[in-house]
Amino acid sequence: MSTPEGVERLSRCITIAGISQCRLFNDPHYFSILLSFSEVAVLDSATQEIVCCMGQPVAGNPTQFMMERAFAAAGLDWRYLTLEVAAENLGNAVRGMRAMGFKGGNFTLPHKVAVIEYLDKLSDAAEMMGAVNCVNRDGDLLIGENTDGKGFIQSLCDVVDPADKNVVVLGAGGAARAIAVELGLAKAAEVTIVNRTPERGQELVDLLKTKANVASKLTAWEADYTVPEETDILVNATSLGMGDPDEIVPIEVDSLHARLVVADVIVNPPETWLLRTAADRGCQILDGLGMLVNQGVIGFKIWTETEPDASVMREAVEEFLEV
Ligand code: NDP
Repeated sequence: MSTPEGVERLSRCITIAGISQCRLFNDPHYFSILLSFSEVAVLDSATQEIVCCMGQPVAGNPTQFMMERAFAAAGLDWRYLTLEVAAENLGNAVRGMRAMGFKGGNFTLPHKVAVIEYLDKLSDAAEMMGAVNCVNRDGDLLIGENTDGKGFIQSLCDVVDPADKNVVVLGAGGAARAIAVELGLAKAAEVTIVNRTPERGQELVDLLKTKANVASKLTAWEADYTVPEETDILVNATSLGMGDPDEIVPIEVDSLHARLVVADVIVNPPETWLLRTAADRGCQILDGLGMLVNQGVIGFKIWTETEPDASVMREAVEEFLEV
């Protein structure tokens, strides 16, 4: 129940964290989140662990709702805060996180690459990808991990095994880097990177060839992209479609053939223009929710060293997004 005590405890927790910017208060799910809080038994100490998500724009990101539910289900008195952090404030925000003893955090658009310079150490995967989506505090050290790619591959494997497949990845940002590297490690036959900024795309192609040991080439994204006939899997790893179900991804629609699996990383809304168009063309489609839940499960385990209930997390995401 959202009791006055629950509200008082929540504001105390936020005061402890020194946060005045918690977007949660503007969120329609605020009172359901309070419900999760009230289900947690012990709330009266300053030792609650705090994790967060930093990004911009970050409003509408369902991770807080998903994680709070998972903490409550596991009986953990932890808090997850969603923080709108502009690129120019990232350094100070990470210093604040360190000063306040946060256990860790997720980093999303546009911080996945930029956050690296403020960390002490990287996992092998994050080092290879050059992108971090999950930070864990181990003693005084902030350690960067990357769970996006593994989360995506787990979700993709429910539909198709990428081994020996020709894959086209749209984008070369943080999500694309993580996904493309994991596709390489999963033994895809070739990974074609299609990106608006060719220099950024070429950097990823070079990384794939040298570090993930996979054949790779770049296509500069200038006009509507024609998906090559031999493609098996098409992944939208750009931010196109985020927050707008009708945002068009510039591709030649007629080139979407029925043998394609089309995956989108966009979470909100999960039904994007690309996925609707691909389904109409007879393609098999995969939305971004499985990736979100899977990477969340991995992050939960890294921070808490306990296994979350993945079905609780999936249900929470679906409830948040009303799907
Ligand atoms: P980045 O900012 O690092 O990269 C964005 C990418 O999108 C770049 O390749 C950029 O191209 C491209 N892009 C942006 N706008 C356009 C445009 N108008 N036309 C063509 N290309 C464009 O972001 P991230 O990689 O961190 O995130 C990308 C998306 O993935 C976000 O929507 C994020 O929410 C989602 N995501 C979902 C996850 C999940 O669990 N489902 C996990 C992680 C991310 P350029 O290089 O030319 O700028």
